[in-house]
Amino acid sequence: MSTIAYDYMEEFIRSLIKGNNEKLEALEKYARNNSVPIIHEEVGRFLELMIDIRKPLKILELGTAIGYSAILMASVSKGSFHIDTIERDPEMIKQAKENIESFGFKENIDILEGDCLEILEKLNEKYDLIFMDAGKGHYNHFLPHCLRLLNKEGIIVADNVLFRGMVASDKLIKRRKITIVKRMREFLNMVSEDDFITSVIPMGDGVAVIKRRFENE
Ligand code: SAM
Repeated sequence: MSTIAYDYMEEFIRSLIKGNNEKLEALEKYARNNSVPIIHEEVGRFLELMIDIRKPLKILELGTAIGYSAILMASVSKGSFHIDTIERDPEMIKQAKENIESFGFKENIDILEGDCLEILEKLNEKYDLIFMDAGKGHYNHFLPHCLRLLNKEGIIVADNVLFRGMVASDKLIKRRKITIVKRMREFLNMVSEDDFITSVIPMGDGVAVIKRRFENE
């Protein structure tokens, strides 16, 4: 049972999503059948929409898993786009490499192997879109780096920001998850400052869309 949106609402919204890429659907099915944690269907559609509207040429993803969301983003990107995606799990990296190659995106998607924070510290590229989907308990630590790496008009899309509803309600918090919840709340407070335009959407496990606010322009 979802603690974020009503089940009947999620089911209805998902029933409206028509897949248009059979191979990608097969990869999605593989992930769901093998308990690989990938984005919810409606979050995938939302990412597609963001990419179609913003047309990012450089994308950074935190959390590759088997490459599903990176391949989805590549499939809907246009022009000379490039995606860097960070993953630390060797088995995930192996499968992601195979999937990326089989979808023909070897030249467009680079897996940066290692821990998100360590890699973020070393990166110096600029990105038009950053998709945060790894290390929920560290989004607050990742944020300063993501802001440094974000182009002026770039956007951050962060998944899992309501973390099974626990971030919004103390009643739902499991004791083992207190630190993650505290840090996620800190992250959401940081991006809710006046310097940002942030929208938190109760979709999937909670999605935040974040953009810097520029006054007098
Ligand atoms: N974005 C993927 C998709 O939708 O297809 C799913 C990513 S999954 C939710 C999160 C992934 O991030 C896992 O494969 C996990 O191994 C990886 N991960 C978690 N914490 C990480 C960290 N601190 N550094 C690098 N990878 C991490």
